[in-house]
Amino acid sequence: MLSFYPGPSKVYPQTLGFIQEAYEQGIVSINHRSARFEKLLKETLENLHVKWAIPSDYTIYFISSATEAWEIVAQSLIEKQSLHLYNGAFGKKWGHYVEQIIPLASSLEFGLNESLSEFAQQISPDLKSKIDTICLVQSETSNGTGQVINRQALGFPDDCLIAVDATSSMGGILLPWAEADVWLASCQKCMGIPAGLGVLVCSPKALKRAEKLSKKDHYNSILLMEQNRKLFQTHYTPNVLGIYLLNRLSQTLPPIEEIHKNTMEKMAIWEDFWTHQSQFEFDFLIEKNELRLATVLALKGQSAEVSRILHVGEQNQIDLGKGYGTWKNNTFRIANFPSHTVEDIHTLIQLLQV
Ligand SMILES: *Cc1c(COP(=O)(O)O)cnc(C)c1O
Repeated sequence: MLSFYPGPSKVYPQTLGFIQEAYEQGIVSINHRSARFEKLLKETLENLHVKWAIPSDYTIYFISSATEAWEIVAQSLIEKQSLHLYNGAFGKKWGHYVEQIIPLASSLEFGLNESLSEFAQQISPDLKSKIDTICLVQSETSNGTGQVINRQALGFPDDCLIAVDATSSMGGILLPWAEADVWLASCQKCMGIPAGLGVLVCSPKALKRAEKLSKKDHYNSILLMEQNRKLFQTHYTPNVLGIYLLNRLSQTLPPIEEIHKNTMEKMAIWEDFWTHQSQFEFDFLIEKNELRLATVLALKGQSAEVSRILHVGEQNQIDLGKGYGTWKNNTFRIANFPSHTVEDIHTLIQLLQV
């Protein structure tokens, strides 16, 4: 079976050997306050800093999922009023859940072919001045939108925190870390391992906000997480196997610049294919290619065409991503994660050309 589902998706094949290793070496049974765990966590954080080019003053935390990270932002970082800008199902859900926690939180929807920065520039200075945290989605997995995140272009006050959901791009493209204060993701997308681990990356400015608010009434308080991180521990028993897999992958995979280049080259193969093939009637849901997410493609067509292509996949043990939310019936999605090789792409392309 080959999965092009946009998460959970194909895992790196070398993961199997690493799981075996973890079992044989007893890693799967270690306590998260033991010296062995501390060494593992320290090394993993260091490797990720280097391999993903994360600024050295940003801190990394392991949690359970990206969804959990949405809530952590609301419970530890939003002071009074957050603003959520979205054009798809994940951004909308994030706003929805935060509104249950932060009474003044609000959301604004923008168009599928609109750039986030241009949309943000139209927001009134009066509203902007009230916002302490802005929540954005870099990788809108539901519709295949990929946004450029640029602090200055967004034009919010200097003390406003920028939190970004990069769930289906972290580990697959080079992210502009310094352009935001919080980055969050899950491991079953671009990181190429089984689900059950979330990654939260915070800037010094985000930590300062957490200290200022001093919210410690949730077990997932960033302050508690930071206290533990300093000891190379975690605030609760984490997915140690997941951390081990990330550790081993971070030792063996190329730096993010190279992965980024590969992702773009594979995306170019897909763009060329979908613009020239004649077997199916599909267009990119996102018309402007500069607004497309390189790690998840969303293709739009008649629902019968969608069913037909999903069926071709099924018949050949290839999982394609169904449409999501509003686009459930007339789109399908293809993950272009680092675990997907050029060979995998050609396997699928050959099938679709018959
Ligand atoms: C998959 C996804 C999530 C949710 O991830 P979980 O691991 O289920 O918490 C959130 N945001 C985006 C953009 C996603 O693609």
